[in-house]
Amino acid sequence: MRAWEKRIRTVTPYVPGEQPNFKDMIKLNTNENPYPPSKKVESLLETEHSEKLRLYPDTESTVLKKSLAQFHKISEDQIFVGVGSDDVLAMSFLTFFASETPILFPDITYSFYEVWADLYHIPYVRPMLTDDFRIRKEDYYVANGGIVIANPNAPTSILEPLSVIEDILLHNTESIVIIDEAYVDFGGVSALSLLNQYENLLVVRTFSKSRSLAGARIGYAVGNPVLIRALNAVKNSYNSYTMNRLSIMLGAASVEDEKYFYETTNKIIETRNQTATELKALGFKMPDSSTNFLFITHPKVRAEALFNYLKEQHIFVRYFALPRINQYLRVTIGTEPQMQCFIKAVQKYLQSEACVYE
Ligand SMILES: *Cc1c(COP(=O)(O)O)cnc(C)c1O
Repeated sequence: MRAWEKRIRTVTPYVPGEQPNFKDMIKLNTNENPYPPSKKVESLLETEHSEKLRLYPDTESTVLKKSLAQFHKISEDQIFVGVGSDDVLAMSFLTFFASETPILFPDITYSFYEVWADLYHIPYVRPMLTDDFRIRKEDYYVANGGIVIANPNAPTSILEPLSVIEDILLHNTESIVIIDEAYVDFGGVSALSLLNQYENLLVVRTFSKSRSLAGARIGYAVGNPVLIRALNAVKNSYNSYTMNRLSIMLGAASVEDEKYFYETTNKIIETRNQTATELKALGFKMPDSSTNFLFITHPKVRAEALFNYLKEQHIFVRYFALPRINQYLRVTIGTEPQMQCFIKAVQKYLQSEACVYE
């Protein structure tokens, strides 16, 4: 190794789901929303003059914060926005986890947490979820440098009741506790109601799933103004203009269309429940989902083999070759016709000899 190579920071990056591009594909692998964004987003895109793009955007994303403040009935100084919740979470790790004591997050959860911890040299411990993928709250009663919990969790789809989150907050008044609510709009129970009681709570949300705006990259954090100011200071120490002009406007337009938001999320919840029933009839087992995906396993099927079979039919789901979950597939909920195609393909596989588990 040459001397200068030793100075290069080495990291093991997060691996996002594939973005294949086939005309006939059914894409159920990255938890995107199958429905288009609100019509208000569409009409804004048609009328907005590109001429304005020569100007820098508003560093405060004021219009977006205003609409979010109204939607959540909170004040603007409780909101931080970023380039997707990945940006918000990465910034939060950098800002809040500066102690020598390890931070805590479950052994099975969003795999980016570990990547950020490694990137910033933050020590961490990963308490094991139970065999049925539930949090043991007592695991979080130990001294720590911070806590991150996705609720509902990914890729398990499981929602922990608010009482578990509150119990963890009660036992950790000296740490900052981040609740990642990427999937909360699909039947979760938000920790936002605990904000007034716990100054150390930060709730992180995204527009990528429930608002059909993964491509616009919008996420936000809600917390007490001291936390928000700290996040802004760090953000303004490396890039003041994280949020681009278009995304700020499109995000605000989406928040203002509440009717469409509830329509689409409810439709996805319905399709999810129906898909779950059909998969169970085929012998699949899965936790109750509070998200826009199902985490499925079958006693007679090798998950990776089914994953590959579906891929050949251009039906993309997610497989994680990781301990404890390598017999599961994570299946995003698409439109109803898409899910019917998916079920048909699965049925066909189950009828073929190829699938029998040795
Ligand atoms: C999708 C997801 C994110 C990231 O979402 P973006 O806003 O698109 O960056 C964060 N956390 C969890 C648990 C997710 O599933």
